[in-house]
Amino acid sequence: MSLKSTILGYPRVGRKREVKKAVERFWAGRLTEAELGEAVVALRKENLARLAELGLGDGSAIPENSSLYDQVLDITYLLGAAPERFRSKSGLDLYFSLARGDAEAAPQEMTKWFDTNYHYLVPEIGADTPISLANKDNVERYLEAKSWGYDTRPVLVGPVTYLALAKGEGDFTPLDRLGDVVAVYEQLLAEFKAAGAEWVEFDEPAVVSDNLPSDRDEIIALVEQTWTRLAKAGDRPNVLLAAPYGDSARAFPALVRTGVEAIGIDLDRGTLPTAESLQAAGLSEADLEGKILVAGVVDGRNIWRTDLAKAKDILEEARTLGATVVVGTSTSLQHVPHDTGLEQWDDPVLNENLHEWLAFADQKVEEVVVLDRGLNEGWDSVADELAASTAAFEKRAAAAGVAVPEVRSRVSALTEADRNREDYAVREAAQAERLNLPPLPTTTIGSFPQTPEIRSARADHAAGRIDDAAYEGRMKEEIEQVIRLQEDLDIDVLVHGEAERNDMVQYFAELLDGFAVTKHGWVQSYGSRCTRPSILWGDVAKSSDITVPWWSYSQSLTDRPVKGMLTGPVTIIAWSFVRKDIPLSEVADQIALALRDEVGELEEAGAAVIQVDEPALRELLPLESSKHADYLAWSVGSFKAATAGVRPDTQIHTHLCYSEFGQIIDAIAGLDADVTSIEAARSAMEVLPDLRDHGFSHGVGPGVWDIHSPRVPSTEEVAGLLDLAVDSVDPKILWVNPDCGLKTRRNEETIASHTNLVEATKQVREHLGK
Ligand code: GLN
Ligand code: ZN
Repeated sequence: MSLKSTILGYPRVGRKREVKKAVERFWAGRLTEAELGEAVVALRKENLARLAELGLGDGSAIPENSSLYDQVLDITYLLGAAPERFRSKSGLDLYFSLARGDAEAAPQEMTKWFDTNYHYLVPEIGADTPISLANKDNVERYLEAKSWGYDTRPVLVGPVTYLALAKGEGDFTPLDRLGDVVAVYEQLLAEFKAAGAEWVEFDEPAVVSDNLPSDRDEIIALVEQTWTRLAKAGDRPNVLLAAPYGDSARAFPALVRTGVEAIGIDLDRGTLPTAESLQAAGLSEADLEGKILVAGVVDGRNIWRTDLAKAKDILEEARTLGATVVVGTSTSLQHVPHDTGLEQWDDPVLNENLHEWLAFADQKVEEVVVLDRGLNEGWDSVADELAASTAAFEKRAAAAGVAVPEVRSRVSALTEADRNREDYAVREAAQAERLNLPPLPTTTIGSFPQTPEIRSARADHAAGRIDDAAYEGRMKEEIEQVIRLQEDLDIDVLVHGEAERNDMVQYFAELLDGFAVTKHGWVQSYGSRCTRPSILWGDVAKSSDITVPWWSYSQSLTDRPVKGMLTGPVTIIAWSFVRKDIPLSEVADQIALALRDEVGELEEAGAAVIQVDEPALRELLPLESSKHADYLAWSVGSFKAATAGVRPDTQIHTHLCYSEFGQIIDAIAGLDADVTSIEAARSAMEVLPDLRDHGFSHGVGPGVWDIHSPRVPSTEEVAGLLDLAVDSVDPKILWVNPDCGLKTRRNEETIASHTNLVEATKQVREHLGK
């Protein structure tokens, strides 16, 4: 039985975020476990019906990748691989405790999934972690779909990737448990076989990444060993082994040698292996004959329609390798919204354009189906669809706003001088004189708690229940409270609290030219948390006020400096859907120049301190190390283009939200910000040795309060962290701040933690004075 053209996975949240809503109601005690089960079963049924209707009906083309929270957590749960602190639990209680913690124990850590903005739950694996086939939920879901008349293809994260993404207890290397995990997958394969499954998909994206702790060639070798062993298992369905999220050319020969029936590769980020490279690896056409190649020509992680003519060429070229080619997506569609049909943009021209240019998940399924017909019935049979696709791309290239001559010429006129400021020593002296701050100045990262009052004001405004003036008035009240609070707490450099921002990227996207936002374009960020990434479709420019009126109001309330607060180019790119018709480096410079204007206006209005956040700098780091240098050059360059237009006595801050710094510390220093705040409390200041060894010489604020948890650190604890910091770096450059913004915290925690933070700072200042 052969595998048909397919998608690697479908969005899991539901068109109306049904899973999110059901899960959150369950957590709140408003749904029973049975009711939660019914809600997700109904959604699964609806999704299956839709995928069948869109044309994935047979040949195991419908993926079964539903999840209540996260696909990596699903494997932890499947293996029963709970860390010690949760071992007394079972069922959904265990599942959600692993994700969210409970009264006694902290949840598993969360981190970004490859170079996406999706977060997975990091497994914790030690020598004694239990590993067994703990449940058969996947098999039951397969059988349930079969009872409704659908032959689905279960999708699971593969064993090597699972362990490569895990963290070891102590010094333990999780991959040392590979044998145990593989034994469970072998059992599971037999269960699937017994249930009648024709195909099962296993994703092993670890083979495309150089950014994991294990060496890539080692990972590729482990994938080869593992799947060679599993392929030999007598009792198993056919296996699709997929390598999404990057270029699998290097891993491809190993994947072929495993003996699995089908291989899925990402032809959006990656390229086809060449006949020569296969030959060099000792493979001939005969080795590929009889194998199915799922050619991922439809981009699973961006929202643009596919250039069908280009996809056709790639598919035909793939055919020359000798395998049977079917159409696929580059990754699961979990990173894109469900359906463009749900959207209606106000501007009629933009509305028409976007509907023509975009493909969300359902439209991508249709593209797969069209390409499949072309492959099998001849390209003439889809000539109209191909022509329409080509025409749409041509029309788009010429559409107003896509290429704005002034923006283009401004970017090409950027010089090195535009990206560089005076020497740090000059700036430092000028800023010290202007700001006159105490040693170890205290500040926060930007946002203050987004209280129910703020959220209801925003909802009232969006629904037209209050007008612009009333909304602005309510935001101003919030800002005033935040300023007063910081004065009472005796913080040195204040923020306005970002009450007026729904989201640190969307806020800018709504006000800059070249972006569109969606109403229903939700994608899962983690668990029940969804975001609506903005769509960057055209050339970016600033044509209206963005932050200056809010900043001016905030500064008018106090004599202490209030930071201007902007989101940097890389973060705007990382958390939006970005055009693919020009290089990212160019997009970044366009955004940088728009921000440079905003920075200039803030300076003009009197801002002495301006922060440009780049929390996503690390996230966009390419998976392949050969691409790091180029990426870091343009990303750092864009930050500098945004910030280097200011006077020496204007202090530029940046904020980065992670602590694994070592790999990119040169780039961070290269941003040449006057002050950099970073996450450090969660890892007990692990970043200090990196800073010391690097000789970091500009201002730096390693976070002393882990804002990811409601816990309030004591004065002693904060003072202890500061003592560690002054031991490692020159106290002259040290700032005191929390790990990140306070948006998700509550007022009580914020007040208590900052009281202690300021008190601890004063104690440490006193020691230093002696
Ligand atoms: N200024 C932003 C805030 O405080 C930074 C958020 C972030 O780092 N993700 O909310
Ligand atoms: Zn942060």
